Amino acid sequence: MPQIASRPWIARPLSFPPATFHTQHLAACPRLELGHGTFAAYTRGMHEQIQYYSTNRQVAPVSLAEALLQGQAADRGLFMPDRFPPLDLAGMAKLRGRPYADVAYEVLRPYADGTFDDATLRALCDDAYDYDVPLERVTGRRYLMRLDRGPTASFKDFAARMMARWMSVLMRQQAGELVILTATSGDTGSAVAHAYHGVPRVRVVVLFPPAEVSDRQRKQMTTIGGNVTTIGIDGKFDDCQALVKRAFADPALRDIRLTSANSINIGRLLPQSVYYVYAYINLADVAAREPIVFSVPSGNFGDMMGAVIARRMGLPISRLVIATNANDEVPLFLSSGRYRKISPSRVCISNAMNVGHPSNLARLVDVYGGMMDETGVLREQPDMEQMRRDLYAISISDDETRMMIQAAYEQHNTLLEPHGAVGWAGLEAYISENPSAAEALAVSVETAHPAKFPEEIRSLIGLDPPVPPSLAGLESRPEQYERMSTSYEPFRDWLLGRFT
Ligand SMILES: *Cc1c(COP(=O)(O)O)cnc(C)c1O
Repeated sequence: MPQIASRPWIARPLSFPPATFHTQHLAACPRLELGHGTFAAYTRGMHEQIQYYSTNRQVAPVSLAEALLQGQAADRGLFMPDRFPPLDLAGMAKLRGRPYADVAYEVLRPYADGTFDDATLRALCDDAYDYDVPLERVTGRRYLMRLDRGPTASFKDFAARMMARWMSVLMRQQAGELVILTATSGDTGSAVAHAYHGVPRVRVVVLFPPAEVSDRQRKQMTTIGGNVTTIGIDGKFDDCQALVKRAFADPALRDIRLTSANSINIGRLLPQSVYYVYAYINLADVAAREPIVFSVPSGNFGDMMGAVIARRMGLPISRLVIATNANDEVPLFLSSGRYRKISPSRVCISNAMNVGHPSNLARLVDVYGGMMDETGVLREQPDMEQMRRDLYAISISDDETRMMIQAAYEQHNTLLEPHGAVGWAGLEAYISENPSAAEALAVSVETAHPAKFPEEIRSLIGLDPPVPPSLAGLESRPEQYERMSTSYEPFRDWLLGRFT
């Protein structure tokens, strides 16, 4: 747990005004003094900018800039926008067939207002989203949205790339260096490392368990170099996570500006609402406000929170299917109203979803009027009835996942990997329970490229998934990474030696 008292830069507002501002308003307001407080209050009044509050509600709301740099709020809650700006669906319909970056810009603009000006945001969107977002028709009105065409072939590229660009702009106005410390069981490490590679004044340290990641996943991290350092920890993912948590809490490291890049950061969340809007305007009858069903394979619940946010902004999502693997704590919570974490988490073939207590659950509970603290204790019950109307949660076993990969290939010639198969199986379960939804427009999210899981797919359907350019050539690139034990002191000394 981050010990906030030891990190004064977290505890108080950062010492800069909103990172960029609208100079025309400066000119229009001769009384303006460039005291930070005055300036912030002024711009807030002018634009009614969105502020970010903590789900624990013990600290004052902050700007996007502060929320991005703090990661977790000082009271250990998670930042949430204080309102959800309504989507102009009629206006957005004009973006049908336009590049993804155009949609990202329109959706993110109100959230970024006051921290990033329009021209900056526009340029960042163009730069971050330079790859395809295929919407593949599988059968009838049912589609697969493939979010696997980014540089690390997982959907985490969408958020990591935008967050890295936002932080890089903010760091231009900050003294010193930011050290991003992250533990990974596979996809997070490579997406974050790639996204921050070459960003000035940001350094990345990724801890991973060599025995638990695939060769391809490891090489995606260890061949980057530059400002990215990878450390193989001789232990499990939990050991990596424990080292990271101790470092955040360690007063001896207070001179290093450590921050996290996992999905507790609001910067990892907001960009994940964009692709739901993108799918909708490209597939739905927007003028008729046609309802849509999304199915999202879920672990830490960051991806599905993107859909929840899009829905709050007015996207006509009639039902959101939440498909988990055998880690079924949320489906059980929805049916029973009681929440119990699963510890240790269950090991499944959809390994990026092996989560026994989703870190974004506090946000979901918050949106439905409840409160969950950082340890997973429900302080206030959310509106369970409303949640059940909006969501359909289901747990899919490994056997069902494997059968789904085979069935999708045999029946529809559609290639799924284990995570996307959990999502598709969740959608099929929902439709078989709700026959009236059979004709509905439905989109299931494929979160990784099948070529990341060649062994599983080969054994199920006897086919080697074609390797996308993002994964090609990995084998021959030189690897470099440190090795460390699970004990904390050597790791702390390494951080001190490297960054102070
Ligand atoms: C991280 C990940 C998920 C789970 O996403 P959450 O936002 O944690 O729910 C699903 N599939 C893949 C391939 C992932 O990497």
